Amino acid sequence: MAAQFLKHHGINLQQEMDSIQKEGGIVSPANDMESNSAKPLSRLNGVRMSNEPKKTVSDIFFDSGKVKNTKPHRDSESAGWSDDHEGLSCNQALVLPSLCHPHIHLDKCFLFSHRKYDDLEVVRGDFPEALELTSKAKASFEHDDLVTRGGWLIRESIAAGVTHMRAFVEVDTTVKFKCLDAGLVLKQRFASFCEIQICVFAQDPVFSAGKNYPRGKQLIEEALGREGVDALGSTPYVESSEELMHANVDWAISSAVKYQKHLDLHLDYNLDSTNPPLIFPVLDRLHKTWKSRNEGKTVVLGHCTRLTLFSNKEWVELRDRIADLPVYFVGLPTSDIYMMGKPSDDDGGGQRVRGTLQIPQMIQKYGLKGVIGVNNVGNAFTPQGNCDPLSIASMGVGIYQAGTKADAQVLFNCVSTTAKTAIGFAQPEDPFGEGAPADFVLFENAMLSEERTPGQVRQRRTLQEMIYDPPKQRRTIFQGRLVPTNIVG
Ligand SMILES: [Zn+2]
Repeated sequence: MAAQFLKHHGINLQQEMDSIQKEGGIVSPANDMESNSAKPLSRLNGVRMSNEPKKTVSDIFFDSGKVKNTKPHRDSESAGWSDDHEGLSCNQALVLPSLCHPHIHLDKCFLFSHRKYDDLEVVRGDFPEALELTSKAKASFEHDDLVTRGGWLIRESIAAGVTHMRAFVEVDTTVKFKCLDAGLVLKQRFASFCEIQICVFAQDPVFSAGKNYPRGKQLIEEALGREGVDALGSTPYVESSEELMHANVDWAISSAVKYQKHLDLHLDYNLDSTNPPLIFPVLDRLHKTWKSRNEGKTVVLGHCTRLTLFSNKEWVELRDRIADLPVYFVGLPTSDIYMMGKPSDDDGGGQRVRGTLQIPQMIQKYGLKGVIGVNNVGNAFTPQGNCDPLSIASMGVGIYQAGTKADAQVLFNCVSTTAKTAIGFAQPEDPFGEGAPADFVLFENAMLSEERTPGQVRQRRTLQEMIYDPPKQRRTIFQGRLVPTNIVG
């Protein structure tokens, strides 16, 4: 190890780093790794920006959590360092706008990683079993394990470069406010590192007879009145009849408007062409109230796998029916691919529809607004995968057969800037322009490794390379501050 080598030769690494910092204004990775506060930065020194050609190296200057300006790296070098001591030497690493989870379930994450749920086991691997296993687990949710598992998700997400997320927490007669309370604690705890938007979520039927009726609806409405709640989520398709699905949609829209929240519906999660899509009635209802009475709030529609059966004509009709509504689609490919289109017992395994929204095509061909999300990690709905949004974007190259340079930009936007806009954090057109939020993710900064020099690292030089094969080594910058790699909180 380099540190041991230096020690062996009588060199104190910390003293060396301190003196480097005094002389050059370089923040060393060694002294912020274990900290629990984000370190203010005034400049990224020597980075490749995603919107520039491969060989251009720049410096980015920050002021008050925003981008002040950018300059060619050479000019800054010849002018010497400024008199501040808050720069980060980046060794020509690629820097991109930070990442976003537009749709992630905070309360039921990592059930398979927590010893409390060791008895949960996937046997059939289908949707009814996932609902059954998760309901069983939900009955045992407690504040401590919710905070522990949610903390795992948030820490791993931030380490991957996430600075914004919409976190779903369920409210119903089983869990009451346990998931919400834990979500609000986590939102507060990680506020210096990540913007966590809390979406109160009705996973259970709200109108159908059952243990959640009628108290579940009242609990959700109470939750919407709580400080720190940003969005309402619902699942109309779990209701027992078409009439009650419509009642669920009406209630969700009018409640979001009443409490001035963003709306997020899990919608049309099937591959049944005889099943009329619910999206058109949803749009009709939104047109009546949304823009005039819930200004600035967005609507996100998740899964919508039924739409993959649409003809060209139906897609065009959908686009026209949306018109100027702030409606975004979120594709959730890891969950959809796992759940949709499973073969029946007598299926020979031939060509089957797998069913996940073709997000790049929806954006490029039909001009719709779309993003991609992780949805679930470590539970029966989606046992595979992790908290890294770029892993989903990378998987999208294959799923959507989207390998061009233009596709790479679309896929990236779907887990970064457009994802933030979709959940209500509007982003400027140029993420590196003056006044843009200083929220970035830095890749493969060779300075961060004691053992490797830049020449030994296969650096991804373009966004396209990044999407093909996202590297693990990253640093997150949130509101102009360098987030520690090991957050203790
Ligand atoms: Zn979901």
